[in-house]
Amino acid sequence: MINETSNINEEISSVDNCSCEEAQICIKNLRKVYKTDDSETVALEDFTLNIRKGELVTIVGPSGCGKTTILRMIAGLLEPTSGTILIDGKEASGPGSDRGMVFQDFALFPWRSVRRNVEFGMEVAGFPKEERRNRADKYIKLVGLEKFANSRVHELSGGMKQRVGIARVLVNHPEVTLMDEPFGSLDAQTRNIMQVQLLKILEKTDQTIIFVTHSVDEALFLSDRIIILTKRPATIKEIITVPWPRPRDRADPEFSILRKRILVELENENVME
Ligand code: ADP
Ligand code: MG
Repeated sequence: MINETSNINEEISSVDNCSCEEAQICIKNLRKVYKTDDSETVALEDFTLNIRKGELVTIVGPSGCGKTTILRMIAGLLEPTSGTILIDGKEASGPGSDRGMVFQDFALFPWRSVRRNVEFGMEVAGFPKEERRNRADKYIKLVGLEKFANSRVHELSGGMKQRVGIARVLVNHPEVTLMDEPFGSLDAQTRNIMQVQLLKILEKTDQTIIFVTHSVDEALFLSDRIIILTKRPATIKEIITVPWPRPRDRADPEFSILRKRILVELENENVME
């Protein structure tokens, strides 16, 4: 057991070895302070991270530490207090079609059909009807919902809604997809199926994904790298490069060893003071 632990730990590189120049997303010294009339909350401090094109990076950390804050700043929905975010060398100020965000609560239009939800972004952008439909149908197929293209979203299960949420973002061909605990409300079995589905989509689309999750298991199953955050104000505690190719086997003893190690780190952050 001790040997196994040391072997797996040797394989993990803890350094962020991607430079800003070779990165698609270059985040430097990001800081966020929320100010209200009588209080200040420092949500994020000294957050520096470079992400390559096509990489799947997950962010894990204690509840309330600042994970959603990071995603919203990258999405351009929230202004950083200081620091910079470059996407393909350009400053990410304000939302843009290069980034798409999948929200935890799906944020769909319940009375619209699956197809019309997926078409929404293209509708707003003024795409011709036929192109909208062709593109939407391609992504509806990709998430395995072709039989439900005409169903209204409120008739679907949680897992199916989540797939609509993913198709609705990917159909716009964002350079970067931000996912905020997207499978958090799903039961364990549906969640595992969705993880496999996401990896399949990733193979076909070469998306860069930043994925926030509470589940260490999910992070280990999906990611190229795992960013472990401290409690608030969030800073990077450790970056773990997951050393295995995909598909991964959750029952593998090495998987359990790494899972345990990350859980211990997170528990240390959750200790009440
Ligand atoms: P996480 O997603 O990791 O659970 P968040 O990024 O949502 O955490 O929040 C980090 C901290 O910032 C929390 O303490 C939260 O209460 C605070 N916070 C988030 N949004 C706001 C806001 N709009 N105004 C004030 N404080 C906020
Ligand atoms: Mg959150």
